[in-house]
Amino acid sequence: MNAPDQPYTVVIGLETHVQLLTNTKLFCRCSTQFGSNPNTQTCPVCIGLPGSLPVMNREAFQLSLRTAVALNCTIPEFTKWDRKNYYYPDLPKGYQISQFDLPMSQDGWLEIFDPSDRFAAKRVGIIRAHLEEDAGKSMHDEAAGKEDSRIDLNRTGTPLLEIVTEPDLRSALEAKAYLTELKLLLTYLKVSDCNMQEGSLRVDANVNLHIETDDGLVATPIVEVKNMNSFRAVERALNYESERQFDIWQETGQRLGEVPKQTRGWDEHQQITRPQRSKEESSDYRYFPEPDLVPVVVKPESVEEVRSQLGELPAALRQRLQTTYDLKPYDADVLVNQGGALIDYYETVAVHCEDGRLASSWMQQDVMRMLNEREIDIADFSLSAESLGELLIAIRSGELDRSRAGEVFQKMLSDNWSVSEAMADLGIEKVDSAATTDLCRELLAAHPAIVTDVKSGKTKAVGRLIGEAKKRNPNINPGEFRDTCLELISQMNGED
Ligand SMILES: [Zn+2]
Repeated sequence: MNAPDQPYTVVIGLETHVQLLTNTKLFCRCSTQFGSNPNTQTCPVCIGLPGSLPVMNREAFQLSLRTAVALNCTIPEFTKWDRKNYYYPDLPKGYQISQFDLPMSQDGWLEIFDPSDRFAAKRVGIIRAHLEEDAGKSMHDEAAGKEDSRIDLNRTGTPLLEIVTEPDLRSALEAKAYLTELKLLLTYLKVSDCNMQEGSLRVDANVNLHIETDDGLVATPIVEVKNMNSFRAVERALNYESERQFDIWQETGQRLGEVPKQTRGWDEHQQITRPQRSKEESSDYRYFPEPDLVPVVVKPESVEEVRSQLGELPAALRQRLQTTYDLKPYDADVLVNQGGALIDYYETVAVHCEDGRLASSWMQQDVMRMLNEREIDIADFSLSAESLGELLIAIRSGELDRSRAGEVFQKMLSDNWSVSEAMADLGIEKVDSAATTDLCRELLAAHPAIVTDVKSGKTKAVGRLIGEAKKRNPNINPGEFRDTCLELISQMNGED
């Protein structure tokens, strides 16, 4: 399906490298702490000295298993390790321990959706998720005035889970939605801190175009795009790359298979992709089974145990919030994105005031804004969920309107007061219906034009009186005032 303004379909598959939250590396006991002095977290195993022997980190495997099960993958009973051979300055062993033909999981899916409905919800296929060790880091020309390159091996051997999707994504927007959902899932699973700046989440994209021509459907050569350091960069790089590929196709007519696969890097500064070293085919890596590690046997009972301990994951939680509290998908999504403790707070408020939508609106417009302003978590928020619930009950009963409720909220927050204490301090008391009716009569008599408008069907005209009504009596309830005015006008109709 082409976007309306595009003469082609973009086809995208993503490879995500997720650094797992373990204290130690995948095959040795070195620390995985980020930001230490270069080469202080190494040992004979992770720098590959002869005679050293790797031992698998069980925790890393468990975290991978959690993730794979949550991604609806099949978990084979038998999985093994392979050496992926290549020479790179930051890979002193000359090979990386990875998984080739028997990965620890395969054939899963992750559902993505757009809260703003720009594309339909869909399942993105996961080809496989496998464990591997990270390489070190090369630093070029980083010190001012120096032209040397340096290697930091602290990262060497850090556990990574590589998650590879089917080429199911059809736009940069869908790619971004996939990454957003994946990151949220990983956060809920507590398997990674997903910090892109520190390299805990790295994304490569394979992208090409399908173009409808007079000779049928044509596919352009696949390009792998690297070096995207934020989701925004992914979206921009993919948009740029699709346009670039379309231009190249118009110029050369090159099709898939006619040129070798190209690797390009995203240049954040110039907002373009540039060619990088050519991509190796997997036969170039000369994979062979790692002789120093035993294969891993995963019993079906262990998989079931992991499944039973996953907890409520984002998709299910979103669904439950929509059903239980009558929330719109967008609002449920906003809350789910905030995670754990904030959801608990919200649910307490919603149950207390018996109005899920009102509670959601207050969470988003007032509570979350306040948390952002004060840069605190919900755990440090001074107003209890029950007190906020009381405030919302006062709104529902008509005791308070939105703007006065805002003042009460501020008072409750700053002075740690209850709703009634804050209302008393602000001099708020409910205006009885006789007083409201008197005020309506008075203002309608002073504004005959508004009465005429309402009679001709423009009921909204009453709204023009609310400001003046509030000036006369700040405690007036706008909803009640409006209804009373309309009622009075309809009675005047009868008198005509
Ligand atoms: Zn080590």
